Amino acid sequence: MSDKIEELINSTAGKKLLGAMGVTVATDLQRYNANQSSYFSGAVLVGAGQNAKLLSAVQKNLADSDAQVTYSPDAAQQLGDSITDNTNGDRYQALIFDGSGFIDATELISAYHFFNANIRKLKSSGRIVILGRPHMQCATPEAAATQRALEGLSRSLAKEVGAKGATAQLITVAEGAEANLDSSLRFILSPKSAYISGQVITVRAAEIVNLADWHKPLAGKIALVTGASRGIGEAIADTLARDGATVVGVDVAPMEADLNKVMARLNGKAVVADITNPDAPATIAKALSDLGGVDLIVHNAGVTRDKTIANMTEQQWLMTLDINLAAAQRITSELLKTNTINDGGSIVGVSSMNGIGGQRGQTNYAASKAGVIGYVDFMAQSKELAAKNITVNAVAPGFIETAMTAAIPLFTRMFGRRLNSLSQGGLPLDVAETISFFANPASRGVSGNTVRVCGQSWFGA
Ligand code: NAD
Repeated sequence: MSDKIEELINSTAGKKLLGAMGVTVATDLQRYNANQSSYFSGAVLVGAGQNAKLLSAVQKNLADSDAQVTYSPDAAQQLGDSITDNTNGDRYQALIFDGSGFIDATELISAYHFFNANIRKLKSSGRIVILGRPHMQCATPEAAATQRALEGLSRSLAKEVGAKGATAQLITVAEGAEANLDSSLRFILSPKSAYISGQVITVRAAEIVNLADWHKPLAGKIALVTGASRGIGEAIADTLARDGATVVGVDVAPMEADLNKVMARLNGKAVVADITNPDAPATIAKALSDLGGVDLIVHNAGVTRDKTIANMTEQQWLMTLDINLAAAQRITSELLKTNTINDGGSIVGVSSMNGIGGQRGQTNYAASKAGVIGYVDFMAQSKELAAKNITVNAVAPGFIETAMTAAIPLFTRMFGRRLNSLSQGGLPLDVAETISFFANPASRGVSGNTVRVCGQSWFGA
């Protein structure tokens, strides 16, 4: 019944009818295809405010793509480039604006001019990328305010272009981290970021790693994925294997057959363990050290036990907090203690939009998922991780089409998947692509980020 209603809504006739009624209709999002020759192709317009600091990095990045690049007069002048229109009359697949030089609110007018003149020329499934500096690293309060203003601008642009399946993000790049921008810009411009919008990615200075093959960024890497037998965990395992990693998947005994099937398909290794079991950290550490250590840890296993707090049992509280938060921390601690995480490794927590915005009936779940973010924030500052060049980030999914969300009652589900700027639910693949981006060795400058994969959900901050 529910699928029939969705089919009707998503049919050409249904979309026409809803459009005529003024209801926002979802645009099919373009996603990554292994046969695409480059991470980005199409016309791109690059604009800039005065004293832009990231234009050379953008120019270098785009030179490695199939983009036809046109610079606005401001950008061209700063690059010493000629003002040539390379669009061939086409509309833009991406608009990139470098606001990193802004130090005063009055200068923001150039961003207004750039988007006012060009936003109608953005194609469906297009990209807007604004580049700035982390506002807390600015020299004056005026500069900090202006840099933070770019966040409000990009989040609002995301809401204005979402109906055509286009997205907008801000990437802030610390001074000295200009060369580290590359992996984030590639990811955001590419179809791999299809369901990410209204986000801020921060980039800090780190070792520069040049990849031999951007289609196989994780070649030779070992990845641990908990809860890998189905849903988002299975998609993470698939995607990391697609990108070259050998996957070690963990799941509970009742899921053993499914886990074995997934790992057999991916030539991975199955480890049957309940992550809350006291022996689990040592069992996992042993399996990983037998493979020469681990390069990527994805704490994906998670459960919901929803009840309002007055009706929630102590067991529901304890179980949710232990699986979603404490068990993951015990595993990370054991892997660090036993030196099982390789230099240049990566730790990724799976949080949730509800861990940011809160949710009725999910005090336990939201507490656990907010805890994941706190852990990432703190660990990203840790000297222990810095000494080994290990990054730590979180992904916070919104409404993702899985068994978990299929169990939501029909009308709540139909609304739930549409309450975001892209008017649709995301795919497990979208979460997985973000994790692979974090794990990419070229993303060493990306640490301490929580990136929401939620189509810019209307819930939460
Ligand atoms: P799912 O229930 O389909 O899969 C979770 C997996 O974790 C299962 O295979 C389960 O057996 C495993 N698992 C549970 N407890 C375990 C334990 N103690 N030890 C080992 N494995 C265990 O859920 P999903 O929708 O794929 O969600 C995956 C993650 O994404 C979870 O952390 C979830 O909270 C998060 N998330 C999902 C959504 C969504 O829309 N589906 C949204 C936000 C966050």
